Amino acid sequence: MKKGLLIVVSGPSGCGKGTVLGDITRELELSYSVSATTRSMREGEIDGVNYHYMSKESFEKLIAEDKVLEYTEYCGNYYGTLREEVENRRNQGQDVLLEIEVVGAANVKRLCPDAVLIFIAPPSVQELERRLRKRGTETDEVIAERVSQAEREIRCSSGYDYIIVNGELEKAVNDVKSVIIAERISAQNKEEIISEVLNS
Ligand code: 5GP
Repeated sequence: MKKGLLIVVSGPSGCGKGTVLGDITRELELSYSVSATTRSMREGEIDGVNYHYMSKESFEKLIAEDKVLEYTEYCGNYYGTLREEVENRRNQGQDVLLEIEVVGAANVKRLCPDAVLIFIAPPSVQELERRLRKRGTETDEVIAERVSQAEREIRCSSGYDYIIVNGELEKAVNDVKSVIIAERISAQNKEEIISEVLNS
């Protein structure tokens, strides 16, 4: 069984990652890795779908048990990728999608050098702030913190394999899809293809 791809997508809060990835996940049948977090649930989120929500103590227990592939502290909360969301699925040939921030992405690349890193950037910092305000889920203080966090993240994005600017949604969706389709083709075994073509 061919191992599935590990696709890591990052982008600052409010850059539209969720919207860009929504249909692609279904259309390309990606297996979305549900992270663990200690942050509180936002309105409309569902435990086990958006995140596995847990206390700081439970999260630290998972770390101690080596059940977390990578984790980081972001805006005062823990966020982490659970090994069980990634390893078995990849071994079964499924392409796994991680939606994580830049420190976690760099750690994943170190642990799994074959991971494909995609950064989704807003067209400008000003536009990002406008989108965060429009979402209306955070206080002014949290928005200011997220904007300066976003600037730090954008500065880190040169280490990614691809940077996709989400100015026009349809174009961003097509770009991300093209990357994943190309990576699937590139991951195919060339010798197998050649012998199939020659022997069929
Ligand atoms: P939010 O609170 O907006 O849902 O997420 C905040 C940030 O944490 C986002 O950039 C998101 O991609 C990132 N994040 C979510 N899950 C994980 C994870 O498992 N590991 C890491 N390192 N970051 C994560």
